[in-house]
Amino acid sequence: MTEYPKPRIPAQPVLSLASLISDKGSAGNNVLDAGDVRFVTSGRMAIALALQQMNIGRDDKVLVPAYHCSSMINPVVWVGATPSFYRIHHDTSVDLEDIRNKIDANTKLLLVANYFGFPQDLPAIRAFCDHYGLLLLEDCAHAFFGQSGGRPLGSFGDYAIASCTKFFPVFDGGCLISSRHRLAGIDLRGAGLGFEIKSAVNTLERGFTYKRMEPLRILLASSMRLKDRIWQRVKKRTATGHISLAPGSSEGGFEFEPEWIRKRSSLMSSFIVKYASRKRIASKRRANYTTLLRVFKRLPGCQPLFPALPDDVVPYVLPIIVDKPEWIFPALKRAGVPVIRFAEFLWPGVDAQTCAVSADLSRRVMQFPCHQELAPSEFEWLIETVNNVFLSSGHIENGLEAISN
Ligand SMILES: *Cc1c(COP(=O)(O)O)cnc(C)c1O
Repeated sequence: MTEYPKPRIPAQPVLSLASLISDKGSAGNNVLDAGDVRFVTSGRMAIALALQQMNIGRDDKVLVPAYHCSSMINPVVWVGATPSFYRIHHDTSVDLEDIRNKIDANTKLLLVANYFGFPQDLPAIRAFCDHYGLLLLEDCAHAFFGQSGGRPLGSFGDYAIASCTKFFPVFDGGCLISSRHRLAGIDLRGAGLGFEIKSAVNTLERGFTYKRMEPLRILLASSMRLKDRIWQRVKKRTATGHISLAPGSSEGGFEFEPEWIRKRSSLMSSFIVKYASRKRIASKRRANYTTLLRVFKRLPGCQPLFPALPDDVVPYVLPIIVDKPEWIFPALKRAGVPVIRFAEFLWPGVDAQTCAVSADLSRRVMQFPCHQELAPSEFEWLIETVNNVFLSSGHIENGLEAISN
């Protein structure tokens, strides 16, 4: 596997003092307004918990999108159910016709994702599920904010899930949401003092890495060095040198660790999710998205996945469809751009035959950060660097054509 340099700008929100400036205004709708909410350590753990709440298990079939990441499928397999992959259309909307054809006597649940923050037609999907007697799980990992048919996302499913790390400057966090069931009775435990400390320290350190909160970094510098020394010693004393205080999801991993299903999210993360200004998050993301969209529209060899930004959408990232992904993706990574490809690795066996659109999008759609914690200079750097990569790819193509002519 190719090693790329660490991204020059933060891929996900990092903590700054501005993150915590609270305002009384409401962002309007977000998943926390959708119903009862419980905080766990990641979105995938919330999916597992939702499946358990719905008693999904052996012999059950769960309809999942062919356009997915493994975090959405692992919990389904873990509870013993069988994933059945349905098709999506070019605009990422679910193909209800294909879903209808895949329903059989064992099909219990439909999982739908609001990709990149853009809502599915949830009133229609809800009606479809009611008609066919299916449960609905709404995956709002990309859509902490937004609505469909005038109602907040997360309120249509029997259960819904969200991922806090994608929208807030937090180390861990996922939400289980339900507008139909009380969640207070679910037994969740704290993950221990080690995890709490790790979450708080990492949240600060990730901010420090990208030059946030400089005065605080200087103030804490010697304590942080001391902490690193103690940590090294503790590691040396354990047999493997590998100690896990936190789930892999917090380190950017895709693994599924069932021991974290019933663990509460850290105090630090819950605090930030509660107090960060949602209005600021929503308006900055929309503004950044709009600027990036305007610039990227003019670049050669690509087009936006969504040509417009509707009023009630708060984007997770800017998705762009690229003509020459094999060239552009590594070139962007080498330049330090935190570009991501959702669904880069499809579940084994899922291919163009399962869904031609998903196979195509998984290869060609690249996502660029538009989060609220990008500083103006970082944002300018992003635009300039991406511009240069696309323009030089144009030159290379023209050059090759010239040679072959
Ligand atoms: C990231 C993601 C998840 C899982 O969220 P984590 O917090 O990373 O566990 C689930 N669904 C989708 C669509 C995602 O992108």
